[in-house]
Amino acid sequence: MNPDVDAIGVYQADPSLKGKLRRRLVRLAHRRPAVRRPERPMVTFAFDDTPASAVRRGAPILEARGVRGAYYFCAGLAGQHGHMGQYSTREDMVRVAEAGHEVGCHTYSHLDCGQATGELVADELELNAAILSDWGVAERLETFAFPYGDVGFPAKAEAAQRFTLSRALHHGLIEPGADLNQAPAIGIEGEHGEETARHWLAKAAERRGWLVLFTHGVEDNVTGFGASTDALSRLVDEALEKGFEVVTAAEGARRVSGDAMKAAA
Ligand SMILES: [Zn+2]
Repeated sequence: MNPDVDAIGVYQADPSLKGKLRRRLVRLAHRRPAVRRPERPMVTFAFDDTPASAVRRGAPILEARGVRGAYYFCAGLAGQHGHMGQYSTREDMVRVAEAGHEVGCHTYSHLDCGQATGELVADELELNAAILSDWGVAERLETFAFPYGDVGFPAKAEAAQRFTLSRALHHGLIEPGADLNQAPAIGIEGEHGEETARHWLAKAAERRGWLVLFTHGVEDNVTGFGASTDALSRLVDEALEKGFEVVTAAEGARRVSGDAMKAAA
């Protein structure tokens, strides 16, 4: 799947030379490398945006296997309808938090962080955290997913100050040297999503790395922005059979980080 595609719409990253250069250079800025390899390979199942199906159908699949996932909410989308069906309501968000899943940040409004100013990004991060906290959803949002996977310098700097892991959408494993402020992930959506995820699970097992697998919705059948319930079930089972530890993103970041993060307000 095209790593620049995210669920709110088919996203066209700035195609200009300036845009291309920025995307290349931002990978080198504000880096915070992972320094440790976990004792066992790790995998995180992440849900972006987050359609209600990810909570209502996805969470029980993880819970039945005794593991938890990471849900990246935009409070501004709560209860609205999009092309993936209804987004999670406030009740869905409270439910995942109470069940012990991680609640992560995905900006308030699904902001394109590629070209946004630092001030706007900061406002969006603070607003999202304040609303989720007000709803009783989370004590602190520890990790972040960049909407559309697009990353600008000001956004990366703002996220780096607040989160122990900020995830983009380029492919890769999190291993020593990987940037925790712009971490890779593998989509498990679409026709080839499950097959791609299996390939990366094998690689992560072999290298004792940390793999983040993400989807948006969880549906009966696979869609462009959703994993099927069967595919998600099979992937969790396969990870457990292969000896992976299934961790939240916050837990994974703790295991591979070298230094304590600055305490966020
Ligand atoms: Zn998104």
